[in-house]
Amino acid sequence: MQKLAVCISLSLCQFLATTVTRAQSTAPAALTVIRCGTLIDGLSDTPRKNQLLFIRGQHVDKITDAAAPIPTGATVIDLSSATVLPGLIDSHTHIFLWGEDPAKGGYDANILNAGIALRAARATFAARRALEQGFTTLRDLETEGAGYGDIEIKQAIEEGTIPGPRIFGATRAISTTGGYNLEGYAPELDMPKGAQLVDGPVEARKAARQQLEHGADWIKVYMTHRSWVDKQGNLVSQPTLTVEELKAIVDETHGWQKKVACHAYNGIGLQRALDGGCDSIEHGLEISDAQIVQMSKQGTWYCPTLAPYYGDWAPENTPGGKRDRARARVHETSFRKALQAHLKIVYGTDMGGIPWTEPIAQEFARMTGLGMAPMDAIQAATSRAAEMLDMKGEIGVVAPGAFADIVAVSGDPLKDIRVLEHVRFVMHDGSVFKNELAKQ
Ligand SMILES: [Zn+2]
Repeated sequence: MQKLAVCISLSLCQFLATTVTRAQSTAPAALTVIRCGTLIDGLSDTPRKNQLLFIRGQHVDKITDAAAPIPTGATVIDLSSATVLPGLIDSHTHIFLWGEDPAKGGYDANILNAGIALRAARATFAARRALEQGFTTLRDLETEGAGYGDIEIKQAIEEGTIPGPRIFGATRAISTTGGYNLEGYAPELDMPKGAQLVDGPVEARKAARQQLEHGADWIKVYMTHRSWVDKQGNLVSQPTLTVEELKAIVDETHGWQKKVACHAYNGIGLQRALDGGCDSIEHGLEISDAQIVQMSKQGTWYCPTLAPYYGDWAPENTPGGKRDRARARVHETSFRKALQAHLKIVYGTDMGGIPWTEPIAQEFARMTGLGMAPMDAIQAATSRAAEMLDMKGEIGVVAPGAFADIVAVSGDPLKDIRVLEHVRFVMHDGSVFKNELAKQ
């Protein structure tokens, strides 16, 4: 009898559990409706006035005119005096980097003076800061000696332990012997390096495999390292990997259906990056006309990161000072050429190199200052970046089916791009993270 009773109650429990689970899975997710004064959807060139944005759970359900009825029980967020945009995407950051100010010990202090717990705490701050400023997705291009920490920060965000954006992490990055910091110390010292150093295609492929195995969403490769100005005043950059080495990495990474981002300033290293089949060129300070044509033909993404080359200049008549000025000068020319050739330009800041306390949206003014239309700059930080990240239609756009990553600003970013430096409302995956604008 007792056995039978247990059996019955067990079956009842199972039945109830199944029923509850079914009820939970079929119940529609809560509905939130956002009233948008102006909607810039990330894809269209024309903003729309007075729209209603219906959000169910994590996704955008539909978009209608303001006159459409709002179901009772829906949470309404009134952003009717604001401009609403998709969550922004920064395609080049370093959450584990804490500035490179020479007065604060430069790059080396990040690795020499900070233990892994301090670095993780700083990365946690950076992730939160990005979200607060409306950047709901980051392509984080290497941890600068902090191993696979980016993938673990990403995990902490995904499990809800800490707030932060969607992260596409590159883990350790790859360069060659003599191709990355820390350097300049006594040769007897075995110094830690900010990237995984390889020599030869076998080691290169192995490093890519190790990084992919441990969760890299992208592989980052340094194709140039030091730069200086030669006797003729030209910017010269030391190349690192050979075409053969890079091809091994690209071949391996593409096999995993992932992509390769190449840090490349100019010259031989940039040429090798293109010949090796790199998916995105990072910085691209000086791109020749032939290289512009090659990028266009190969469909290479261009992530210029203009902002960091305007800070921390060495004094004018020193070798470092000449280099710093030459870098900014040639970069402007390359950016204008890339614009004219309609290269696929994405928004990237190199935050981390720039302190995380500074506005992440400062790159917008740099881009528009060099002739990019404000709407084009916004698309570089939304739908175009989403396409590079193989997330077309899912992020970087306000459209039915997309993740509800939504931001809002007071004012019109098409008239004053700097309003994007003051994002006042942030929704990530359908949850409001920040709201300085509206009562709910
Ligand atoms: Zn970088």
